[in-house]
Formats: sequence, C-alpha cells, structure tokens
Amino acid sequence: MTRKPNILTPSSESLYLAAQNLRLGKLVAFPTETVYGLGGDATNDRAIASIYAAKGRPQFNPLIVHIADKKEAPDLVIWNKSAEKLADTFWPGPLTLVLSRAPDSPIALLASAGLDTIAIRCPDHPIAQQLIEQTQRPLAAPSANASGKLSTTCAQHVQDSLGEDVSLILDGGPCPVGVESTVLDMTSKPPTLLRHGGVTKEQLEAYLGEIQESLHDESAPKSPGMLLSHYAPTIPLRLDAQTASEEEAVLLFGDEEKVKGGGVRLNLSAKGDLTEAAANLFAMLHQLDQEKFKGIAVAPIPQTGLGAAINDRLRRAATK
Ligand code: AMP
Ligand code: MG
Repeated sequence: MTRKPNILTPSSESLYLAAQNLRLGKLVAFPTETVYGLGGDATNDRAIASIYAAKGRPQFNPLIVHIADKKEAPDLVIWNKSAEKLADTFWPGPLTLVLSRAPDSPIALLASAGLDTIAIRCPDHPIAQQLIEQTQRPLAAPSANASGKLSTTCAQHVQDSLGEDVSLILDGGPCPVGVESTVLDMTSKPPTLLRHGGVTKEQLEAYLGEIQESLHDESAPKSPGMLLSHYAPTIPLRLDAQTASEEEAVLLFGDEEKVKGGGVRLNLSAKGDLTEAAANLFAMLHQLDQEKFKGIAVAPIPQTGLGAAINDRLRRAATK
C-alpha cells in the first residue's frame, strides 16, 4: 500500500508542524508506549469535540490527558503527596491517575466528559514527550482508531482507520507490544483501581497500602449510576422542547425559532454544527444550571454524527 502524504517520519520539522497543527486545534496521531494516540489540545473544547467525531463514538467517554512532566500536573489537577510518590516511581509510564480538577484547570470540560475529575499520565515514549513539550499544551489522546475497531499499533493502521480526520500521523514505527495504562482513581479512600494495565495492583499497593477495585467493562454501556457518575445539572432537564415557560432556561441548537419562549437562551451552535455544539455542551449546561430557573428546556438535536453522543449525555442528565 502506498504511504499517504500525511504520514511523517519524526524529525524536528515534522514535530514542529505537528505541534503547530495541535495548537490550531487540529488532530495529530502519535506513538505512545502502548498504542498510537489520537492527539488533540486538551485545553481546546473544539479539538476535543473533533476527537470524538473522528472516533465516531456514540458516547463522550472521559479521555486521558497526557503531559510531558509531572511538574505540569498541579496546574491541571489537585495534586497531593500520594500522587507525587506514584509519579516519581511510575512516570513516565503506563499509570493513569484520576484526580480532582484544579479550580482554574485549563482542561476542556469535554475532555473529562463533564466530570469534576481528570485522568492524567506521562507517556514513556520519546516522540510523545517531544510532541507535548513542543506543543506546550497537555494532549488528550485516546487510541487512534475508529470506535469499536482495534487499537492501532502502526502508522498505516491509523491512516486506514481514521484517514482524513487526522492532520498528520507521526510514524514512530510499531509500538512496543504494550498493555494499556492502569487507571487509578486517587479521589477515593483508599484509591480505586478502575482498569488493570501496565502497572500492577501489587506494585501500587507497595506504595499506597491496600487499594480497592472497581473495574468497568469498557465495551459495555455505562449507566449513569455507575462508576463514571457524570456531571448532571441540579435542575431538571426537558428534551425535545418546542416551547418554554419564562421560568425555564433554554438550550438551543441551530434555528432559534424552533423553541419559543424561555428566560435565558443559549445556542449550542447557531449554525447547526454538531462539533461546535459538543464543544459548548458542558460549559452551557453549567451556565444554565441555576436555581432561579425551574429547569432547562433543550431543543431537538439531530441523532447523526456527534448528535448521538450529545443526545446520550442529555438523556442521562434528564433521567437522573
Ligand atoms: P483510553 O484513553 O482509551 O485508554 O481510555 C481512557 C480510560 O480512562 C477509560 O477507561 C476511561 O473511562 C478512564 N478515565 C478517563 N478519565 C477518567 C475520569 N475522570 N474518571 C474515571 N475514569 C476516567
Ligand atoms: Mg481504545
């Protein structure tokens, strides 16, 4: 198979170009020690929305935020001594730590799927590290494959799976046969193992004492009551609204005329663009979630493309 022009061998030029693209909100696939990651600027909701769009996932699953050095962590999450100890021991490497979002964290709300926790790790791969450093942004990077397809361990597979959705692919050769990262939730006492991976439970317990396990099946649909207790507004949400009372806030999509009335009205995307809508979803829900409103009336949102993930999120919030 001929190589498409957007597969580039890592060099100072291609890393520079990749970093520029990321800073502009474009997606770049890059090798990590586990699998290829579909990278986007973790501080840019639009870039995160295009990761979900490229993967074609029907749900917003929280993404792991990749940093080049542990010193970047305290700006993003509430860092503590245990996290520091684990990072000293296992970073760079396949250990993801889930910590509370720092008050002024620049991480996009969509990257953590609206949760008030953020998963971070420092990958042990020179290209991944150089790319993060050069971009000067934390990078969200789920596996670089379309949803439901196998994870990709070489650049050509990324090309075949995601094609034109990535601006370029940095070819680091095949990934060292790796397991996924271990995911450890540090916000519970004792900490909770959410996913087994490259760092074992026993290794972690040597540093932390006993930890609990609450593994989730990533292929199974997550219910709102499960481990990933997603953010939901405290006031009621009403979907497919056509009219709203003066006591309700309104979340629009596209044509404003589709929902009449309402108090405060915000539009997820006036031009009816689902990627823009996904990028605005959590911030706008937060904005409208005020006790002075009786509820939030949400305009109908098409079930195509990212609309499926947006509707999934809204339905869960509405039925909590
Ligand atoms: P992947 O990026 O495909 O390796 O998967 C990311 C993993 O991290 C999934 O199992 C997510 O559910 C998990 N994850 C990411 N962020 C969080 C979070 N804030 N809380 C709990 N789990 C998380
Ligand atoms: Mg995956």
